[in-house]
Amino acid sequence: MESKPVEKRVLLAKPRGYCAGVDRAVVTVEKALEVYGDPVYVRKQIVHNKHVVETLESKGAVFVEENEEVPEGSVVVFSAHGVAPEVHDQAEERSLKAIDATCPLVTKVHQEARRFAKEDYDIVLIGHEGHEEVIGTSGEAPEHIQLVDGPDEVENIEVRDESKVVWLSQTTLSVDETMETVDRLKKRLPLLQSPPSDDICYATQNRQQVVKDIAADCELVIVVGSQNSSNSLRLVEVALQHGADSSYLVDYASEIEEAWLEGVTTVGVTSGASVPDNLVREVLDFLDERGYGTVEEFEPVVEKQTFQLPRELKLDMAAANVK
Ligand code: SF4
Repeated sequence: MESKPVEKRVLLAKPRGYCAGVDRAVVTVEKALEVYGDPVYVRKQIVHNKHVVETLESKGAVFVEENEEVPEGSVVVFSAHGVAPEVHDQAEERSLKAIDATCPLVTKVHQEARRFAKEDYDIVLIGHEGHEEVIGTSGEAPEHIQLVDGPDEVENIEVRDESKVVWLSQTTLSVDETMETVDRLKKRLPLLQSPPSDDICYATQNRQQVVKDIAADCELVIVVGSQNSSNSLRLVEVALQHGADSSYLVDYASEIEEAWLEGVTTVGVTSGASVPDNLVREVLDFLDERGYGTVEEFEPVVEKQTFQLPRELKLDMAAANVK
């Protein structure tokens, strides 16, 4: 008797893709273009996704690294990752009209940093060295903040008073690795205080949780996202740590290698918080053409979070009658 062919399938993670902070940042640039006309300058990548940046460029956004590249008096949007206070000062000095698209959940971490610095705490910031969000948060209180980039750096911490130390974190870290760093910190500093609420944001936590749930059933997990996207990179790590045989990060379906699919029955698919869903659809089409036509969406958590656009933009939208 002939054996039945094994059915190839896709386990599609949900929540995936755009979070409320990314959606707000992208819409901010789109609305700024409508209200002020092009060019609208954007300091740094508005969100860490190649496709999003290229699409906004085609609509008239000009991406720069620093305020000094923006002509005096122009409109500049600050990215979702947040900026240090000195960046606002520089914008004022150059008479720029600044629209701040910093995600409100990053702003919350900035506020915590300011508050604890005011109370003269030493602050241990867990995050990735050089990441824009970490640079922005550190800039709120540089003399109080020390960066710890993973559990192995805990030994380098030096504090003035062990009873007055708090840890904060970047919003897009691996939940598990961060808790490992915190455990190591607590062994060294038993009186270490925790942030008043989770700094790793809801979107990062939810996307990691779904990948944890599906990884063991998948031989391969494809994460759609860019190489400079912290939360997307973490999804690849989480997939590998939780049972997937292999996992890759791709910007586009065209980057998927045929060899990755050899002997694979179940492919997990997800995307980072800065990825529009049409890129995931293209991956599903690619897989469909190769026999993975059955798609099972797995949605253990329903996200309802939304954020208002920046106030300064909303006022100008109302004045210009832009909806
Ligand atoms: S990943 Fe989290 S912190 Fe970052 S923009 Fe999205 S909601 Fe905000």
